[in-house]
Amino acid sequence: MMINIKSLSEIELMRRAGKISKNALIVAGKLMKPGTTTAEVDHAVEQYILSEGATPSFKGYGGFPASACISVNEEVIHGIPGDRVMQSGDIVSVDVGACYEGYHGDCAATFAVGDVSEDKKALIEVTRQSFYEGIKFARPGYRISDISSAIQAYAESQGYSVVRQYVGHGIGTSLHEAPEVPNFGRPGYGPRLIPGMTLAVEPMINMGVYDVRVLSDDWTVVTVDGMPSAHYENTILITDNEPEILTLSNEICEICYL
Ligand code: MG
Repeated sequence: MMINIKSLSEIELMRRAGKISKNALIVAGKLMKPGTTTAEVDHAVEQYILSEGATPSFKGYGGFPASACISVNEEVIHGIPGDRVMQSGDIVSVDVGACYEGYHGDCAATFAVGDVSEDKKALIEVTRQSFYEGIKFARPGYRISDISSAIQAYAESQGYSVVRQYVGHGIGTSLHEAPEVPNFGRPGYGPRLIPGMTLAVEPMINMGVYDVRVLSDDWTVVTVDGMPSAHYENTILITDNEPEILTLSNEICEICYL
């Protein structure tokens, strides 16, 4: 599969899509309170994306019925928003994509609802940090699996496991493009990184074992041992030097672990 290298004008559109995506994630983060349903969060995300002249990338993608993937506790990714009421102590992963003038942004984070245990908070923080450990290698001179390897090494050094069955991806005019960006593996493999590549880097980190399975709704991915999982994702641009995070907001959201 060919990797699409983006032009400057394409990158500008991806910055717009990325900002809308991250702002939508912040909208979700502010609603992370006990008593709120996941459908209410999804509705707010969708309204925000539409109000910005964009469309929700996930709605209808492969038949997915909502604008945000909302995954609670042992749910890893692809949770379907609905009547579930969020409770104090839950950790909730929200994954949001927005498409602006044909270009996608994709980002995710895990939020704490009410009073959350220290071990769940640590899982959230390590997952976020594993993204930043990975993108230290997201620059020319390295290959895709150098990012993967750094994510895995950090997450495992903290006592967690890395989901294998789902991976990050290239992104642009399609939500998922080549190449795949795994969160595990030996360094030095895969395509060389060159300026103009745009990648969604998205570690999914489990407190227990790395194995996951899909529920009978055909979407929701859960840990097989029922232990909690966290997710963190940004869309990045490979440049001549450090990567640029395209899913960036002007807003600082401290409660959101963004
Ligand atoms: Mg993604």
